[in-house]
Amino acid sequence: MSSVHELIRGAAMREAAARETTRTTGRPLASAGHRRPIVLRATGVSSCDTELADDPWAIDRDPGYGPGASSADTIPSLAPRQGPLPAEYTSASDAELTERIMAAKAALGDRVQILGHFYQRDEIVQHADFVGDSFMLAQAAKEHPEAEAFVFCGVHFMAETADILSGPDQAVILPNLAAGCSMADMATIDQVEECWKQLTATLGTGAPGGLQPVIPVTYMNSSAAIKAFCGRNGGIVCTSSNARTVLEWAFERGQRVVFFPDQHLGRNTAKAMGITEEEMPLWRPHLALGGNTAAELEAARVILWNGFCSVHKRFTVAQIEQARADFPGLTVIVHPECPAAVVDAADGAGSTEYIRKEIEAAAPGSVIAIGTEINLVNRLQQQRPDLTIFCLDPVVCPCSTMYRIHPAYLAWTLEALLAGETPNQISVSAEVADDSRVALERMLAARP
Ligand code: SF4
Repeated sequence: MSSVHELIRGAAMREAAARETTRTTGRPLASAGHRRPIVLRATGVSSCDTELADDPWAIDRDPGYGPGASSADTIPSLAPRQGPLPAEYTSASDAELTERIMAAKAALGDRVQILGHFYQRDEIVQHADFVGDSFMLAQAAKEHPEAEAFVFCGVHFMAETADILSGPDQAVILPNLAAGCSMADMATIDQVEECWKQLTATLGTGAPGGLQPVIPVTYMNSSAAIKAFCGRNGGIVCTSSNARTVLEWAFERGQRVVFFPDQHLGRNTAKAMGITEEEMPLWRPHLALGGNTAAELEAARVILWNGFCSVHKRFTVAQIEQARADFPGLTVIVHPECPAAVVDAADGAGSTEYIRKEIEAAAPGSVIAIGTEINLVNRLQQQRPDLTIFCLDPVVCPCSTMYRIHPAYLAWTLEALLAGETPNQISVSAEVADDSRVALERMLAARP
C-alpha cells in the first residue's frame, strides 16, 4: 500500500494534471441533441470512474455515468439533459474562470447564493456562500428568503429538495444538469410504485394494533417523486444522521419498513437496532416480490432496496486491515453508506457531520483513515494539519456525478443570471412538492 504522503502527493498531482488538461483541451460538451445510450455497468461492480481526475470534460463528452447509468442501459426519457456550453467557457483557463466567477458573483450580490456540497471540489467550494450536506444546504435555502436564486453545486436530488423548501419565487439552479446521483437513480418512481403494489397485495393494508403493514422510508438521496410517494403513503424521509430516529418513528406506526434506495444505510441502521440479517430481505426491482418469497416478506422487519453509492461501496475490510497494519494505533471512521462489514471493522461510522466532528475533536498527532468522498477527506486534512488524515481507498475517487459541476458551468450560470436569464432551473411540481414536504416535516418532527 502507498504511504499516506504518497497518496496525498498522488492526489495533488492528479489535481494539477486535471487543471492542466482543462486549460489545454477545451473540447465541446455533450449537446442536448446528443442521444448516445449510456454504457451499462453491471450492478455489483463499482462504476466509480478513477480517470475523472485526468479529464473533467471526458465524462460530458461520453456520458457513461450519471442519471440512469446505474438502472438502465439508456438515459431515461425524462432525465435532464445538459446542452452544450459555449467554447469561451470550456477553453478558458482556471484563472480566467475564477476571475469571471468572482466578478459575476460580486455583481449579483445577495440576490444569488451559491450552495456547495461537502463533496464538491475546492475550485467550486471556494466560491460557496454555504457549504454543507444536502439537507443543511436545503435548509440554508429555506432560511434566505431575500435571495432570488440559489446556485446549487451538488446533484439533482439535492437541488429538488432545495426547491421544495425554498420560497415559490426563488429559483434553484443546477449548473450542470448531468450532475445526477447514481444511488438516487437506482430507484425510479415506477419501480417504487410497482414494489408497493406487490407489497400491499402480499402483506395487506391493515395490521394488528392499527399499525400499517409496511411504512415507506426514503433516504434523502432519492428523487422528489419518491419523497412524495412516502409522504402520500404514511412514510417519511431520513438523512444519514437521523436514520435510527426515523426507523424508530416508523416502527411506532408500522410492522415493518421498506427502505429506499440505499441498502447499506438501511442495513447498518437496522443492524445497530438489533434487527438480524434474516429480517432484512433485499428487494431487487426487476424480480417478482423483489426476488423474495411471501413468507420472507412476512417475516421481514426492514425490506432493503437494492441500491448503493458507488463511492462508498469501494471501501473494503481489506483496506482497513492494510491501513491498520501500516499505521498501528490508527483510527478508522467511515460513512454508513459503506457495506456493513466495513462499518463493523471501523472504529466509528456516521454521517458527514459526525466525521467532521470526530476530526474536530481528535487529539493532535492522531492518524485517521476515513471512508468517504475524497474532496471532503482532503479538506479535513487542510483544516487539521496537526493530524494525519487519509482516505481508506488507495485509488483516489471523487463522486463522479458531483464532479460534473466544473467551474466553467458555474461561470456560465452566474453570467447568465447576470444577463437576466435563469438557466437550468430545477422545478418540482406543486403536487410532488406538497407530498414531499409532508414526508420531510415528519422527519423534522421525529428529531430526538
Ligand atoms: S457520493 Fe454517492 S450518494 Fe453521494 S451524490 Fe455521489 S453517488 Fe450520490
